[in-house]
Amino acid sequence: MEGPPGLSGRTKITAIFGDPVEHSLSPAMHNAAYAALGMECAYAAFHVTPERLKEAVRAIPALGILGVNLTVPHKERAARMMASLSEEARALGAVNCIVNWPGGLHGDNTDARGLEMDLRDIGVELRGETTVIIGAGGAAASAIVACMRLGAKQIIVGNRTEVRAKALARRFMNLAAPRVRSRSVRVEARGLDILVDRATLASAALVVNATPMGLKTGGFARLDYDATRAECVFYDLIYAAEPTPFLKPARELGRRAADGAGMLVNQGVLAFELFNRVAPPEGVMRRALMERLGRPVP
Ligand code: NAP
Repeated sequence: MEGPPGLSGRTKITAIFGDPVEHSLSPAMHNAAYAALGMECAYAAFHVTPERLKEAVRAIPALGILGVNLTVPHKERAARMMASLSEEARALGAVNCIVNWPGGLHGDNTDARGLEMDLRDIGVELRGETTVIIGAGGAAASAIVACMRLGAKQIIVGNRTEVRAKALARRFMNLAAPRVRSRSVRVEARGLDILVDRATLASAALVVNATPMGLKTGGFARLDYDATRAECVFYDLIYAAEPTPFLKPARELGRRAADGAGMLVNQGVLAFELFNRVAPPEGVMRRALMERLGRPVP
């Protein structure tokens, strides 16, 4: 892999703020694109704790940082610190990209578009279909938007804390943002009983895991995979070198299954364009990520 460009007095900085942040694969993706373009820029990872988020965000214009990605746990709080928000960031109530505009910090969110692009790439057809989304946090909100854009007619959110699923469903049912929400969609809330509700699972064209279940140790909750249709697609927002605990049983049953690596690349490509006003060369960020994940390099 090409290394990051050397630092000089002219180097422009982009970055990610997170807590934790050491595991982030964004520096590898963005620096590979800078190297390929020969740009005098570098992408750094800053460990920013929640107590220091405000100070860190304030430093962005002072230091002339071009743009910053946000990861756990900052996406929602940072939205309240922006001078302006994109329609999508407002609808999601979360920011994953801060762009240092001359008139003030602008918050955007590329997660939903990143997922939408990946679902299209893998050929998921949702027009008039039902989707089940497990989880009710920021990632689930992005998944709702992606499924709306793909034309789903019914989205069922199942979450451990059912009131949170209800609040999320209500927010999207009441949302007046034509570029984010289609008018004909219905968003419903359930508890995790949905995982063994065979009739609901049989109606789904797509089942999405938007929780950290299976991320480190421990498996995924019981799910009646065999109740789903043969063409149902399973998508895990988590990404890993091995098939995740959510995807493994789906693959064993012969269902199509994809993890969140494609979404991560796509949101990164969109962030790169927002920060640098130039597109990264085709495939460079994807190759850098696949190398890091130990997967075949496309
Ligand atoms: P979040 O806001 O913390 O939401 C977590 C959700 O998962 C909540 O609904 C929570 O339920 C549920 N949950 C957590 N632990 C659980 C458990 N043990 N059993 C059942 N439900 C559990 O997190 P997020 O920002 O939405 O992110 C969720 C996942 O998506 C993370 O793993 C993250 O890495 C991934 N993600 C991937 C990408 C990508 O580019 N691929 C982008 C964004 C996020 P309660 O409401 O009951 O607490």
